[in-house]
Amino acid sequence: MAAHRLALDGGTPVREAFLPYGRQQVDEADIDAVAAVLRGDWLTTGPSVGAFEAALSAVVGGGEVVAVSNGTAALHAAYAALGIGPGDEVVVPSLTFAATANAALYVGAKPVFADVDPDTLLLDPASAAAAVGPRTRAIVGVDYAGQPCDWQALREVTGSRGIPLVADGCHALGATREGTPVGALADLTTFSFHPVKHVATGEGGAISTADPALSERMRRFRSHGISRTAAERAALGTWSYEMTSLGYNYRLSDIQAALGTSQLRKLPGFLATRRSLAAQLTAGLSDIPGVVPLRVESDVTHAWHLFVVRWRVPGQDRGFAFSALRAENIGVNVHYLPVHLHRYYREIHGTGPGMCPAAEAAYDEILTLPLHPGMAAADVDDVLEAVRKVAGAGPRLSR
Ligand SMILES: *Cc1c(COP(=O)(O)O)cnc(C)c1O
Repeated sequence: MAAHRLALDGGTPVREAFLPYGRQQVDEADIDAVAAVLRGDWLTTGPSVGAFEAALSAVVGGGEVVAVSNGTAALHAAYAALGIGPGDEVVVPSLTFAATANAALYVGAKPVFADVDPDTLLLDPASAAAAVGPRTRAIVGVDYAGQPCDWQALREVTGSRGIPLVADGCHALGATREGTPVGALADLTTFSFHPVKHVATGEGGAISTADPALSERMRRFRSHGISRTAAERAALGTWSYEMTSLGYNYRLSDIQAALGTSQLRKLPGFLATRRSLAAQLTAGLSDIPGVVPLRVESDVTHAWHLFVVRWRVPGQDRGFAFSALRAENIGVNVHYLPVHLHRYYREIHGTGPGMCPAAEAAYDEILTLPLHPGMAAADVDDVLEAVRKVAGAGPRLSR
């Protein structure tokens, strides 16, 4: 039984090399694209940013796209463009990266936490409806793990009240719901190009919208609220510009944008690989009792940023599964501690346990298994072997 002894107990790990849960894929074409920018005239926001925005627009439904310095800046720009400010409320799901809620605080508004559907971990429209009040200025859905929210149901919540819908689409570049791409399902959609996301620019982000007035506001917002860009001033032969609103320096550089455009060319392949690895994981887990993938809706093409399971093996807790799988060199992770349980929110904003029961129950069980386009089928076999080994180890709790 030596082979079955957990690495946690001194046995041999399933893998020799650590398998991370996510990782960028950069090739020579990407490196050449960046080098070409470095040999040219524009390093910060110039023609490569415009080209990246156009390429991205084609992927996310053809609307306006504004590239910014990261996904958090994208959320800040989106909320600011909607005119959200002090005294306003923004409904956000609690099971997300903290930035979704933090950006509401950046504009002086209050994040109001709504719960998620227990099977998909997507914003529950009924909970969102219950969180809406007279001061609600936006409902934000997170396309968690790469599956788009039920935007039609959320639209029914906001519809009669005229409340804008914002998608935090940072997990879901390339996903669709009822054939419509993420980027065109909500009024504003934000993306991140952090290295673990679908397309990497180092740091980077973008917002898509069909509304040119909103995109114009976000273009100014990313560059100090100034009326003309440096490139426009150069073309017009003038020094003159005016600051018309308060903005930030949230610009993406041409260096990053060139990497982004080159990466976007490979997005269809990245997505195909993610989908095939996810199918292999789903099939392999079907005969491992207690390790339960999230539900995938039938009208969805999933972008599979994350492969999340709920660890319900009798007698074992998620903490044990995490440590045991890490010891087997399987880079599992947890996405996320519900935002309303973070110490900062509890201490400064008075949130706490009991506010979002489905998110809290999920948090005790969720585990993200490795999934990224650099993986091969043999890597998935290792993940499945390790999951089987740990799930079969009998009752064990984390220390
Ligand atoms: C990655 C991520 C962000 C933030 O993106 P950055 O580019 O890291 O600032 C926001 N929301 C979600 C759901 C994310 O996954």
